[in-house]
Amino acid sequence: MDPYTDELLDDANSSILFIANRPQVVMEHGEGMYVWDTEGKRYLDFIGGWAVTCLGHSPQVISDALLKQSGKLVNVSPAFYNKPMVEFARLLTKLTGLERVFFGSTGAEANESAIKLARKYGSVHKDGAYEIITTNRSFHGRSLATMAATGKAGWEQMFTPQVPGFVKVPFNDIEAIERAINRKTCAVLVELIQGEGGVYEVSFAYIQELRKLCSEHGILLIFDEIQTGIGRTGSMFTYEHYGVLPDVLTLAKGIGGGFPLSAMLAKEAYNLFDAGDQGGTYTGQPLAMAVGYAVVHEVIRRNLPQQAAEQGMYVLNKLHEIQALYGLTHIRGKGLLLAFDLPEPRGTELVSACLQAGLLINSPNPSTIRLMPALIVTKDEINEMMTILCRTMDQLFKK
Ligand SMILES: *Cc1c(COP(=O)(O)O)cnc(C)c1O
Repeated sequence: MDPYTDELLDDANSSILFIANRPQVVMEHGEGMYVWDTEGKRYLDFIGGWAVTCLGHSPQVISDALLKQSGKLVNVSPAFYNKPMVEFARLLTKLTGLERVFFGSTGAEANESAIKLARKYGSVHKDGAYEIITTNRSFHGRSLATMAATGKAGWEQMFTPQVPGFVKVPFNDIEAIERAINRKTCAVLVELIQGEGGVYEVSFAYIQELRKLCSEHGILLIFDEIQTGIGRTGSMFTYEHYGVLPDVLTLAKGIGGGFPLSAMLAKEAYNLFDAGDQGGTYTGQPLAMAVGYAVVHEVIRRNLPQQAAEQGMYVLNKLHEIQALYGLTHIRGKGLLLAFDLPEPRGTELVSACLQAGLLINSPNPSTIRLMPALIVTKDEINEMMTILCRTMDQLFKK
């Protein structure tokens, strides 16, 4: 290791607040499907900035949008409308058919907004109902309320006292939701594919029934498409696969292509906040708006949802080809949100061996490997990923 990187790592390890065991590399630049560390080592990125960099690393459209907008207007406070805010709102409301949008910077913030909107709806229209039903193994963010909404095992004991008002039910179980609904229920919040949970998809029948149930009971159906939205699963939004529209939709990750940006969309009927109920210094921030517009526009222009569907099928076929050889099970996912299970709980080991070999992949739990590359990934890059993955599994798993 060169002395420069050595020093960077010493300082990183001693100055950055510990939140996770990070590999001992410092990333420096990226282009397309690749990132390079300060030693000049290249990595093929199948984490995709955590399902974020939908256009790949350092795409021209983001630099152009930032350069143009930063020369015009960087910030003007949330007290005013600004031009890119209106243009981006037009685009998103037209795409979804949901008439209203609130902008934030992170996924947690979008979900917080949805939770507040649901409680507001309960207080205005449902006699003070405030309970929100969520599912086991779900992930909705790391703020206090979104942690309480999250169904990760063990999280109910963390940072207590928890924000009250969340009821957890098993995933894909419509009867459990029916049983959980009562006078106090104001909303159901679900992911259509649980991403952090390990890539588990809702069933078609479940989501149809859920839509019906929420309409009958007059409770909000909220889809958290923070990970699955903006082309990731082979359509612009994952709800399109099911032909079901939510009342409230949350987006983040891919929507900014790497720039911190999120959105909560809602039907006109739920445009319920009074002045002062909700806000944020950076809501509708012009730089973020210009980038978001440019990213979503580019995703549409290049027909990336369709590409994600095709390349996803290609990855799935490749995984099925090697399935028996390595004892892989439950190969799953849609578009470019994919996962498979290993014969042994050695995901962490495989992830770090792949990193050594120049490939970034993710292990959301010890037995699962998740792939979520940029939507621009090519067949050549998929083949390269498969080569490194197989070579690494040969070294680790073959006796
Ligand atoms: C990543 C994620 C979040 C949280 O987003 P942040 O930007 O990290 O706050 C919420 N919900 C889902 C489904 C996610 O994948």
